[in-house]
Amino acid sequence: MTGSAQPRPWRLAELTWPELDDRVKAGPPVLILPTGSLEQHGPHLPLGTDTVLPLAVADRVAERIGALVAPALPYGYKSQPKSGGGNHFPGCASLDGASYAALVRDLICDFARHGLTRIVLFDGHMENQWFLTEAADLALRQLKGEGVEGVRIVKLGYWTFINAATEAVLFPDGLLSWELEHAAVMETSVMLHLEPGLVRRDLIPDGPPAAFPPYDTYPFDLRPIPPTGVLSSAKSATAAKGQAVLDQVVPDIAAALTRAFAD
Ligand code: ZN
Ligand code: MN
Repeated sequence: MTGSAQPRPWRLAELTWPELDDRVKAGPPVLILPTGSLEQHGPHLPLGTDTVLPLAVADRVAERIGALVAPALPYGYKSQPKSGGGNHFPGCASLDGASYAALVRDLICDFARHGLTRIVLFDGHMENQWFLTEAADLALRQLKGEGVEGVRIVKLGYWTFINAATEAVLFPDGLLSWELEHAAVMETSVMLHLEPGLVRRDLIPDGPPAAFPPYDTYPFDLRPIPPTGVLSSAKSATAAKGQAVLDQVVPDIAAALTRAFAD
C-alpha cells in the first residue's frame, strides 16, 4: 500500500470509512478479493507471484467497472506437487484447508454485513479453488442465518479467461496443460510485462515437462518433481506475451463480472 501519491479510488484499504459508506449507500459496488499464495515459483520468479498477478489484473478490471479491490490475501492453500511443485520447497507458507476456508468465510461475512454484498473471489493460485468454494458456501449459510440478504459471490481464476487466440500467442506449439504451466510461460510472461525487475532472466528454466503418474500417493513421491520447481519450460516467455494476456483477460473479466452482477 505504498508508492501511491494519492488514494486510488478503487483500493478499499486506501478509502476512509465515510468514503466507503457513501459508495455503499449509492448502491453496493462490486468488491474484488484477490486470493494468492506464498509459493515457490522456480529460480526466476518471486514467492509472491500468485499474489502480484491477480492483484494487478483486479486493479485493471476494477478501474473499468467501478469496482473496489480489497487487500490481496498473500497466503493460500498448500502448494501441490502436480500444480505448484509442492509445499516442501523453501518459502512455501500455506494454510490448512479448513483454516483457509474459515479465513475467507470470515472476510466475506464482514464485507457483506457492511453492505458489500457483491463479492468476487479473484484467484491467482489454483490450489485455493475448492476452499474458496467452501468459504462461499459457509458464508452464505452464515449470512442467511443472520438475515443478511442479497449476497452474491463470484469465484474465478484469472488465467481461466485466457481464450484460444491468446493461448495460441502464448504457446505456438500447443499448451501442455495449465497444471504444468506453474511458473512457466504464462506467469513468467505476465511478470516480465508487469514487474520486469523481479524476474531473474538469466535463471529462467528450460527443462522438460514433469511426468507425473495419474494418481497421488501420501507422502507424495517427490522424484518426478523437477528440481527447479518449475513444471515445464519457461524459456519462451516474453513481456509481449504477458501484455497480450492482460489485453485480453482484463476486458473479458470486466464483461463477465458486469453480466454476473447484472440484476
Ligand atoms: Zn503461480
Ligand atoms: Mn500457485
